[in-house]
Amino acid sequence: ISIKNLSKIYQSKQNEVTAVDNMNLTINKGEIYGVIGFSGAGKSTFVRLLNRLEEPTEGQIVMNEKDITKLKSRSLRQERQKIGMIFQHFNLLWSRTVFENIAFPLEIAGVPKDERKAKVSELIELVGLAGRENYYPSQLSGGQKQRVGIARALANDPKVLLCDEATSALDPQTTDDILDLLVSINERLGLTIILITHEMHVIKKVCHRVAVMEGGKVIEQGEVLDVFMRP
Ligand code: ADP
Ligand code: ADP
Repeated sequence: ISIKNLSKIYQSKQNEVTAVDNMNLTINKGEIYGVIGFSGAGKSTFVRLLNRLEEPTEGQIVMNEKDITKLKSRSLRQERQKIGMIFQHFNLLWSRTVFENIAFPLEIAGVPKDERKAKVSELIELVGLAGRENYYPSQLSGGQKQRVGIARALANDPKVLLCDEATSALDPQTTDDILDLLVSINERLGLTIILITHEMHVIKKVCHRVAVMEGGKVIEQGEVLDVFMRP
């Protein structure tokens, strides 16, 4: 993934906010890449540009040689399937079971029932939720809810997993468990993971490289050890 001269300016009658300001970075296939910054740094805007909820004011996001900022309707839907996403507050469907939540994206993609069942079972195994298929989200702990979120995000075999403050609502032990799961998924599936967070220890624990955002700009980037351990 290659981010080139990416900017997003929000305009209103009163003022203009440059939420992302000429961002440049490259994320390699199969790496765990962290993006860290304080509140207001531009992280959420960056996420919305990556998953194409918004269009940039300027610049490109190139994935597999395609500039995804230029895609429309059908090809946009196709490219979007290549990015799985997990959220701080899980975004599960509360009236559906664990099984149904994970099957949901497969249903939308038109995957036949038998295939759906097989895929969901595989995913449930992968995230360690065997036996909870028929639980509702309200019957699960925070960590278990996020495991459902991860399984759902992986249902359509994405190439990239985008994690937006995915551990920010979890206690430290659960955070560690979820991060361990993400590392094992990264290793087993060779999936690229982008981790957006305001928490330094999350980056230090699992990321290979990191970009530090401030005022919409990437003020530093590189290997985690180089960026954070430098004297
Ligand atoms: P973070 O996720 O790092 O907290 P955001 O991307 O939410 O940062 O915000 C970056 C800047 O852009 C902030 O100054 C914020 O107020 C502004 N901003 C974000 N979204 C909008 C919007 N829809 N309209 C106007 N300004 C926005
Ligand atoms: P609507 O726009 O139809 O009102 P909502 O925003 O209320 O939809 O979301 C419907 C369901 O989808 C909720 O369970 C919510 O948590 C989930 N959801 C919301 N935004 C996203 C997203 N970007 N990706 C995946 N699920 C989402």
